[in-house]
Amino acid sequence: MAPRCSWMWRLPRCPLLGRNLSTTRRLGAGRSLSSKSPTPQICVVGSGPAGFYTAQHLLKHHSEAIVDIYEKLPVPFGLVRFGVAPDHPEVKNVINTFTQTARSERCNFLGNVTVGRDVTVEELQRAYHAIVLSYGAEDKKELGIPGEKLPGVYSARDFVGWYNGLPDNRYLSPDLSSETAVILGQGNVALDIARMLLSPLELLEKTDVAQPALEALSQSRVKKVWLVGRRGPLQVAFTIKELREMINLPGTRPIYDPSDFQGLGDILKDLPRPRKRLTELLVKSALEEPGEKEAVRRAQCTREWGLRFFRSPIAVLPSEDGKRASGVRLSVTRLEGSGESAVSVPTGETEDMPCGLIFSSIGYRSVPISPGVPFLPRQGIIPNSMGRVLGAPAGLYCSGWVKRGPTGVITTTMTDSFDTAQSLLEDLKSGALNLSNSRPGASAIRELLLLRGVDPVSFSDWEKIDAVETAQGLKVGKPREKILNTEEMLQLVSR
Ligand code: FAD
Repeated sequence: MAPRCSWMWRLPRCPLLGRNLSTTRRLGAGRSLSSKSPTPQICVVGSGPAGFYTAQHLLKHHSEAIVDIYEKLPVPFGLVRFGVAPDHPEVKNVINTFTQTARSERCNFLGNVTVGRDVTVEELQRAYHAIVLSYGAEDKKELGIPGEKLPGVYSARDFVGWYNGLPDNRYLSPDLSSETAVILGQGNVALDIARMLLSPLELLEKTDVAQPALEALSQSRVKKVWLVGRRGPLQVAFTIKELREMINLPGTRPIYDPSDFQGLGDILKDLPRPRKRLTELLVKSALEEPGEKEAVRRAQCTREWGLRFFRSPIAVLPSEDGKRASGVRLSVTRLEGSGESAVSVPTGETEDMPCGLIFSSIGYRSVPISPGVPFLPRQGIIPNSMGRVLGAPAGLYCSGWVKRGPTGVITTTMTDSFDTAQSLLEDLKSGALNLSNSRPGASAIRELLLLRGVDPVSFSDWEKIDAVETAQGLKVGKPREKILNTEEMLQLVSR
């Protein structure tokens, strides 16, 4: 990191107007130079759903605040672009709302800027009245078992990044030559991966799946996918919509062990509602004889998937030559306690599952962004109260997965981001957030970045990348053909 310059908050002068740049922008936003208190300058770190929903709420409920969004990639939208499965285009419609926010005169997008590397949180704190950390949970959780690093074992995070065109994962090139794949985990991400492995190619071809992934999947030999969970059917982490989609996936049939579901019908009425509906579907699908049409369909399927309960991985087994994974050793478990809080304990029995392709889908993990920002490593979150970072000076906030941990869908993230934005607005109103000095905001940070050789990507730059991706996609019947390489993205917008 370059040393801090003593003059770094000097505002650059606009050679045409002879005014400083932040004044120029404030005039552009239609506000008077004589306003009594300085304009609140706020920045958000991360342009996923948390960043955009936080910005949206702030802009909507404060008529003057300027909100700048810093993003490490040249492209916005976080996991909406790089996490949500390609065959869920309807989920990605939130991008339209985010685009409206980004086009606000009072919002700037600064892509291609990694906070913590290109600019520090402390430098942002000096340039802005408030910082909202919304940088998600980008790291993966490790299984912590022998053999985890063998070829043939992939983290869900990397595999998802690969099929979604995340530049960091473009060389993953997973080996899909095994007929059986095992996914360790029973959440929605595990179901996304199972669907991607088993979907008929003609369904994937029409999505924005990255081209190398589409090609690799077209050569895939995977026919059977197991989703393995430490606990039982009452504790699965996926949701009903994703389960239904899996059950109905063309060309595939589910495999169940009916004994896993015996007796569950009797306790259905006592379950809380979402769990009740999910379990009903599981029990129905596992225990009811399929109708004639469905029976014929299932008999014709060449691919299958199954849920394996009460199994916890204890080792990845190496092939005879030790060079790659050839299976996974599972500890058979039983439950202590009941319901959501039941814990799995080993029975002492083990079982080996042969397979050449293993995914660990046990969750994502946030990482600390700066030694000066409090972080709880065990929970993997920034300690906070309603989004106000605890143990930090006023003006530091957090939202999204880094605030509450890597669980929950986009609407959950929306609610918690609105809560954080509301806390910030209340602090502005109550005076808890000091506005007595004006702050230079993005103009000062831009100057600093320029000195460090970092050229931020604006939202209109992103719209150029978007236009190229959409046009490339149109040629092959896809909604977009994602550019997989950061340099290529930057070339498209180079001035
Ligand atoms: P993110 O979306 O991860 O955004 C964080 C952003 O911060 C990223 O753009 C990242 O590049 C940026 N960033 C990170 N570090 C820095 C830094 N140092 N400096 C600057 N920027 C930085 N929800 C649904 O509702 N439907 C779905 O179908 C669905 N599918 C999902 C599939 C997967 C595989 C995953 C993992 C999640 C899915 N979700 C889905 C959940 C949803 O994606 C999350 O709720 C949401 O993305 C969390 O938002 P966030 O902004 O906290 O994090």
